[in-house]
Amino acid sequence: MKHYGLQHWSENNFTIKNGELIVNTKSHPSLLEITSTIRAEDVRGPIILRFPHLIQKQLQNLYKHFEYSIEENNYKGSFKAVFPLKVNQFPHLVQAVVDAGKMLNYGLEAGSKAELILAMSHINEGAYITVNGFKDKEMITLAFIAAQSGHNIVLTIEGLGELKTIIEVAQESSLTIPKIGIRVRLHATGSGSWAKSGGMDAKFGLTATEILEATRLLKENNLLEHFTMIHFHIGSQMDDISPMKRSLREAGNIYAELKMLGASALSSINIGGGLAVNYTQNDHSVMHNYTLEEFSSSVVFLLGEIMDAKGIAHPDIFTESGRYIVASHSVLITPVLELFSQDYHENLLDLKNSNPPLVEELHDLYRTLSPKNALEYLHDALDHIESLFTLFDLGYIDLQDRSNAEILVHNIIKKSLSLTSNVESKELKELQVHMQERYLINASIFQSIPDHWGLTQNFPVMPIHHLEQKPLRGASIWDITCDSDGEIGFNPSEPLYLHDIDLKNEEYFLAFFNTGAYQEALGMSHNLFTHPNEYTIEINDKDFTISNAQESKNILEILSSLGYDAQKLLEKLKRELTKSTFITEKEKNDTLSKLEIFLSQNGYLRTTS
Ligand SMILES: *Cc1c(COP(=O)(O)O)cnc(C)c1O
Repeated sequence: MKHYGLQHWSENNFTIKNGELIVNTKSHPSLLEITSTIRAEDVRGPIILRFPHLIQKQLQNLYKHFEYSIEENNYKGSFKAVFPLKVNQFPHLVQAVVDAGKMLNYGLEAGSKAELILAMSHINEGAYITVNGFKDKEMITLAFIAAQSGHNIVLTIEGLGELKTIIEVAQESSLTIPKIGIRVRLHATGSGSWAKSGGMDAKFGLTATEILEATRLLKENNLLEHFTMIHFHIGSQMDDISPMKRSLREAGNIYAELKMLGASALSSINIGGGLAVNYTQNDHSVMHNYTLEEFSSSVVFLLGEIMDAKGIAHPDIFTESGRYIVASHSVLITPVLELFSQDYHENLLDLKNSNPPLVEELHDLYRTLSPKNALEYLHDALDHIESLFTLFDLGYIDLQDRSNAEILVHNIIKKSLSLTSNVESKELKELQVHMQERYLINASIFQSIPDHWGLTQNFPVMPIHHLEQKPLRGASIWDITCDSDGEIGFNPSEPLYLHDIDLKNEEYFLAFFNTGAYQEALGMSHNLFTHPNEYTIEINDKDFTISNAQESKNILEILSSLGYDAQKLLEKLKRELTKSTFITEKEKNDTLSKLEIFLSQNGYLRTTS
């Protein structure tokens, strides 16, 4: 895995220069520079960096490819896109998406009442709002209110019941009627882990019989002129393009049939989202089998072909890809708090005047290690430590001897791995697997990359500096939750190597990439670790600026959000301390202020051991 697989996942967004990871722009700031600037303000926990220029890039790519395919295929419909808010609803992200989409008339998709309100309050003038998901009368009324307020809104029904409610609201009020879409249930299924969105047993969509009934109801109630869209979504992170092609054929034919049945206002097909993002860092596991170019040209070509065969005008094409648009824009940077083997630092060695022979032997091995003998001595050391553990269990050596032995062996392993770093050997590789170093990060996996926990989704991870050095330690990553699932284990088939850093002398930062889609929205407050501090990083030709700083909730806020009376809680702690005896008034007052400060900070760690 050369350079942490940058060539697979980074899409040239980041690259390495002078040993640091830099943002690949004209002014190429390094992530370390940005991180240090933020940390100079006494920030210690994990941070989320948002890069709006990467949203812009994805959006432009999407439109560019579809517009190119439309021209190439002499397609008569136009291309339109909306951002599905469920992918990430955080305000600075939504604002960045809306800003980046202004010139493109990029819209928003809402799947719940709260998201609909968000869409209505943030949409660029004239851009589309599409509404999916299950709806009650209130939500349908909200869509009428949106239409009445001048929004360009399409209400997509997931079932006949919803259509009947639309008819009801239309009859009961004189509010503007929104455009109506129908989600179709396709027999073609999706691919990837999220394929449940499509297929005959899908959670959503109308069957052929229901579509006919819906058309009849629309006609009967004079609403046919509002029926403009059919919609489907086959699932997220499509790894294969063929289910999309099958779905398009099916949906395209449904569209054409409906046009022939008199749905004259029908003018668009919404193909949902699902464009995949590369999360892999490894040469041997490339994730999806299509490019955006192939995707857009297949969609446009197929729809054109179907319509031409039936003599139907080409529909406008809508997409709702979310992951593809925002995954890359956010980077999580976390300090490493501890390397497990630091517990075995050489300084801690405390040899006696007279040591057990095997300990003496280890000491000799350590002193005389060289590139030539490293492998052999390493074997000897591993043998000796086993014997020494046995001697300890049998009571022949004491705790001090055992401590010295453990320190010596750890240092022999470390030194011999670095002495042999240029040697390519299967055995050394295996030893590295065996001798993993554990890196404790100041972050929560449950909060910041929940899909790692829930779906074993890999996120690209790498250090943002020291990249001029070869990383030698097979690494597993531990987070600061007290949950043993808060770990990214070392995987020998996709090994991660990190640097051996003396954290007493310098800091070490790891970055997780492609975390901008779903992770923030799904993030769990396990152990009450909340959404980290976040910053928007705007990059210009000379420099970068940091804006939109939003701090992680502090401890009292976290407790309040769960429904505790934080003020009462603080008062109680203060009262108990005040009543206590045996310290001076001064120390008591100092401690009281300390307590208040602690509770006004977030829950991430501020110091290391
Ligand atoms: C989730 C969802 C999307 C977005 O999917 P991505 O995989 O993020 O592109 C689009 N449309 C609908 C209806 C969805 O439910």
